[in-house]
Amino acid sequence: MMCVQCVKGMLNGPCGSMRDGKCEVGVKCPWYALYKEGKLTDEVKLDKGFLVKLEVKSREARAEFLKKALNDKIVYTLDLPPLPEMFPGKNILEMYDAVSVPDNPMARPYIDPVVYCYKVKQEFGVETIAHITARDRNRLALLSMFMTVGYAGVDGVMLVTGDHTIHSPYKVIRPVYDLDSVRMIYLARLVTDYGVDFRGKKLPYKPFFHIGAGWDPNIEAGLELIRIKRKIKAGAEFFESQAIFDIKPVVELLKTIKGAGIDVPLMLCLIPVYKLKELKFMPKLGVKVSKEYLDKILEIKDDPVKCREYSVNYLAAMAEEAAQVYDRIGYYIGSHGGFDLAEELTKEIKSRVG
Ligand code: SF4
Repeated sequence: MMCVQCVKGMLNGPCGSMRDGKCEVGVKCPWYALYKEGKLTDEVKLDKGFLVKLEVKSREARAEFLKKALNDKIVYTLDLPPLPEMFPGKNILEMYDAVSVPDNPMARPYIDPVVYCYKVKQEFGVETIAHITARDRNRLALLSMFMTVGYAGVDGVMLVTGDHTIHSPYKVIRPVYDLDSVRMIYLARLVTDYGVDFRGKKLPYKPFFHIGAGWDPNIEAGLELIRIKRKIKAGAEFFESQAIFDIKPVVELLKTIKGAGIDVPLMLCLIPVYKLKELKFMPKLGVKVSKEYLDKILEIKDDPVKCREYSVNYLAAMAEEAAQVYDRIGYYIGSHGGFDLAEELTKEIKSRVG
């Protein structure tokens, strides 16, 4: 069933941009209404273009970051926006198990994440995760990109539906959304497990890479559990979250996930942001900032050294609390404020949780 009211044509909604029942384009989200009526399930829905439904079996980890996570060791990934000036040095990368490279974030143009991952891996040997959105590609382009990921030796992908182009300064862009994240994950499993496309036809090249998905503690726990279960059924092997500035919903969701018997590796996104202007923008991205954090930053806003110190300690304390609740927790550290700040936060978390 296609949900005609959904601007992204989701079959497996709601998408991660839904907040409190509202769509990012300002209308009510019909998938949220279904959830409230108790009619939303974790069934993976495919469209008629998928002529095969092959079994998604559990598979061995090949990438070191995933092996480590599955051995209940804490994994650290570094967010690396793909721009020349963000190309990192070796020193910073020694702290991380992998780098994670977003795909045209906020619907703005960046360097292709697969090319960037390839270059970073070639230069430093670090494992890489390329994000890929459904917003900018149809399924032909996705098949080509999946083959490129494998050919380039990129270790994993993070498959997301993607922010709507309403957020973009390029208002004329027409988004694609041929698939949603769940169908993209399933297609990536067809490609990497069986070497076939959505029709079951053999591809000219069978790549291998691990498949990650998004999780979001900013969405209510019962609904987010359904979304996570569905992505696991489709073939997701690890998860990276939306940014977090409030531990309460994280703890509630982690307990809910654990209670459901799920033990998939979950990485929590921690971005040391302390400038008021940036913090006030967070709710527009669907990110909830706790009153405690905002009030404290307001109180010390004129002292950047104190703000920085408070931010690092606050986020590290959240990381510590999450690790007490869920065994396979990891951290996805934002480099938005610069590598030195990301390094400071990573060191503080490591000193607390290892
Ligand atoms: S929030 Fe997402 S799933 Fe819901 S209507 Fe909007 S685009 Fe569709």
